[in-house]
Amino acid sequence: MNNVIDDMKNKVAQSVAKSDSVYDKCILLSESNADLKKEHAWNDYGPLVNIIASRDIRRAGFNGNATVSSLIANNSWSWPDFWCSKYPMLNNIAVPDISKHDCIRWRGFEGDFTDFSVRAAWDSLRPHGPIVNWYNDVWFPQCIPRHAFVIWLLIKEKLKTHDHLKPWDNRPQGGDSSLLCLFCKRQPDSQLHLFFTCPFALQIWCRIKALCLLHIPSNDWSGFISLIYLVAHRHVARVIVAKLVFAASVYFIWQERNNRYFQNKARSEDQVFQAIFSTVCLKLMSLKFKDSVMVQRLKSQWQLA
Ligand SMILES: [Zn+2]
Repeated sequence: MNNVIDDMKNKVAQSVAKSDSVYDKCILLSESNADLKKEHAWNDYGPLVNIIASRDIRRAGFNGNATVSSLIANNSWSWPDFWCSKYPMLNNIAVPDISKHDCIRWRGFEGDFTDFSVRAAWDSLRPHGPIVNWYNDVWFPQCIPRHAFVIWLLIKEKLKTHDHLKPWDNRPQGGDSSLLCLFCKRQPDSQLHLFFTCPFALQIWCRIKALCLLHIPSNDWSGFISLIYLVAHRHVARVIVAKLVFAASVYFIWQERNNRYFQNKARSEDQVFQAIFSTVCLKLMSLKFKDSVMVQRLKSQWQLA
């Protein structure tokens, strides 16, 4: 089986190497059989044709099929004399180990070489940006991906709440009640209202926060988020539970809002709370934490003991 996988990897790597559009991402780490034209990683200057003029290559008696090993004798370079005087940088190139076979390596985003893998390929081809300071709040190994995705939209302020739709609403002001929060029916919803100030969300939050066993200075989401922001990098049970709870709460409140809006289905606060509880509980059952008094208390809170 491993042979089959390795064979597939090699075929993909070789096919990528032949592709003009991404050829510069995959280069041959050639030592013994590197020819003079292709890009290789056996020196810092790149292919010799970048250094030496084609006419000088031909004048020295080499053709397009010449290999690097043909320039090495007794583990030393045998550069033609006029090359050394005309291209002094050749004296700075270390003699490669020609006892090794050529191999295909994947050149990563930062120029490092690794074996080919889909992960390495994606990492070198995808756009790269600076690491954001909320990274650990959203993407962590134990996260539930669909919850993390909604949190990501929330942080990027991309959830299509009423305040986002308002610029497109050309109806007379105050003449329609459809743009009201479907939980409290007091005002158009917004991310701030829906997740932080709406009584529906606050009641769920008051019940769920006690299960996190974190000392939360304020009674609303903002204090909780501030606390998570400070400790999100820590891989301890309480922080992981808190991040799971926050993500699940946002996910199910957003889901409930959409169910009411688009399907005319409504669940009570208790039913949404139970959905959050059972989802986080199920996730915790799949996780392993180092045993401690705090972990035992958490298990008790989540009815896992
Ligand atoms: Zn509301």
